[in-house]
Amino acid sequence: MNSNAVIAIHGGAGTILRASMSASAEADYHAALHAVLSAGQRVLAEGGSALDAVSEAVRLLEDCPLFNAGRGAVFTAAGTHELDAAIMDGRTLEAGAICCVKRVRNPVLAARRVLEGSEHVLFTGEGAEAFAAAQGLELVEPEYFHTEARHRQWLLARDQQRAMLDHDGATLAAAPASNDDDPTPHEPIDPNRKFGTVGAVALDRHGHVAAATSTGGVTNKQVGRVGDAPLIGAGCYADDATCAVSTTGSGEMFMRMVAAYDVAAQMAYRNVSLQEAADDVVMNRLPKIDGRGGLIAVDARGNVALPFNTEGMYRGFARLGETPVTAIYR
Ligand code: ASP
Repeated sequence: MNSNAVIAIHGGAGTILRASMSASAEADYHAALHAVLSAGQRVLAEGGSALDAVSEAVRLLEDCPLFNAGRGAVFTAAGTHELDAAIMDGRTLEAGAICCVKRVRNPVLAARRVLEGSEHVLFTGEGAEAFAAAQGLELVEPEYFHTEARHRQWLLARDQQRAMLDHDGATLAAAPASNDDDPTPHEPIDPNRKFGTVGAVALDRHGHVAAATSTGGVTNKQVGRVGDAPLIGAGCYADDATCAVSTTGSGEMFMRMVAAYDVAAQMAYRNVSLQEAADDVVMNRLPKIDGRGGLIAVDARGNVALPFNTEGMYRGFARLGETPVTAIYR
């Protein structure tokens, strides 16, 4: 049994500034990250697989409206939601992903069903929804994903006629929520510099790694736009021989850099440590093409790397028997 079992999660990166976040919003994020890590830790402690741990962690992050995945997802240019997710098992290199779904409550569970119940890797749109329904997964009305905070964020982006990343900034955020029951974040949302995708990576007690990523994409994105999150190798990758990786940031750049796979490839071909490979991708390679964001990664020895090149990244990790560690700023 591997005693280094560990889970790490992220809830997006971007211009997340202490000065622009209220103490209560900050506490809400820490509490949410802590609860998700504890749940993942329980799965691992009971001998569950890394795949089970990352599925459960991302499912919980999707259900939490603080993050841009599942409920709380950002709006497209048409005022709708289109969700993407991927999951990969480092033990077998099996992977599953879905993109552009509008009614699947938990995209990560659909991705998991693709991994386990299909000969394919990636389903899109209506076909993905039909597959999820046939697998017995919960479909919801599109309004389920609607939250007031994301709606305000979208109106701002639409007025500026641009696509914006989720967690960035200062402008919109300050606007008070119209409804006190609204559980969505009250921190500033700067249209340009925030990415709220969620993800998890884990090493289980059997020595296997897995990764999962789920997102609503970027605010005001064109209908049909797909980012890095559901693309194996760009937003998600796992291989026991090297590491498991989940990314968040400007998806187009992560796709062009094949960012998640590049961390694994550098470990394999350059024989560098997890930290060195992850830092090179996030701090050297992505910035060359203006790629902003970060990633979380674990290797089969239980090393954890959480680099980001933005002001902040919602993140945390938990080892068996230890209190989860959560962080937001640099
Ligand atoms: N990478 C995601 C995308 O481009 C956005 C994010 O990380 O928030 O869809």
